[in-house]
Amino acid sequence: MEIVRSIVDLRAGVGAWRQAGVKVGLTTTMGALHAGHLSLLDRARAGGAERIVATIFVNPTQFGPGEDFEAYPRDEARDAAMLKEAGCDLLFVPPVDEVYPPGFATEVRVKGLTDVLCGAARPGHFDGVALVVSKLLNQAQADLAVFGEKDWQQLAIIRRMARDLDIPVTILGAPILREPDGLAMSSRNRYLTDHQRNVAAGLHAGLQDVAADLREGRAAEAALRHVADKLVEEGFSSVDYIEARDGATLAPLKGEAAAAPELRVFAAATLGRARLIDNLPVWPDGVGGGADQGARPL
Ligand code: AMP
Repeated sequence: MEIVRSIVDLRAGVGAWRQAGVKVGLTTTMGALHAGHLSLLDRARAGGAERIVATIFVNPTQFGPGEDFEAYPRDEARDAAMLKEAGCDLLFVPPVDEVYPPGFATEVRVKGLTDVLCGAARPGHFDGVALVVSKLLNQAQADLAVFGEKDWQQLAIIRRMARDLDIPVTILGAPILREPDGLAMSSRNRYLTDHQRNVAAGLHAGLQDVAADLREGRAAEAALRHVADKLVEEGFSSVDYIEARDGATLAPLKGEAAAAPELRVFAAATLGRARLIDNLPVWPDGVGGGADQGARPL
């Protein structure tokens, strides 16, 4: 696995493969890798990628004031070893001024989808994500790019952006990889103390409870409020949001859950230093189907 730090070298590597007719897949990360990140490489291969490019870049423009940009865990040697082991072919680790050279002045903003859920709680966050992902897609020029469904809203925004800006890449979603107790794997889980780590599993359990309530026809507002209160009782410092929305448009549920086949439940909650997010489908097997919680690809 070669490690490159400039856009010129990244393009040279990818360009040579594509000229030879080899299909290239891209996975973008902020490092602090775990098995969830590595599963994106498998998804890229399953989607037809014959060579995999990964990027590690802790993107300053997606962190708000007081968020954990400085403290975000960074360990390039460990991450590079994990990626190599997972079959990554080319790793792009740009310095900040390679991505944002002096005088950089362009913004990328996806309207609507960025205003709700995490966008409401973290103003400007998705503008930073849309900006850096549009740049990484243009820099790498891969055939396909994989993003995790853990960040479902981010995936929806990236799909919209790639379509709106005519970026010639296929965007694929990858299912959420979870710990055995259901906690979605996240780089930020390492901020949790042992006690908080036990409490953290309640987020996924709470979403499963809401989804089951909605399938049974319970009023959404009461079901969501009940779980939000329970999470705080269990030890979460706060629940930023817990909401039922359409998986594609992110529009809020109006009326019966049974009339909303793409309905998902989304939550973000703070526990100690960590802000945890999760989501799952209300109808994983279609409306009226079974209750298995496997994720349906976006
Ligand atoms: P991050 O390094 O947190 O920016 O994440 C990089 C990519 O990995 C994003 O596309 C995430 O959605 C994805 N990802 C992070 N955690 C998981 C997980 N537990 N399962 C699947 N994908 C994930």
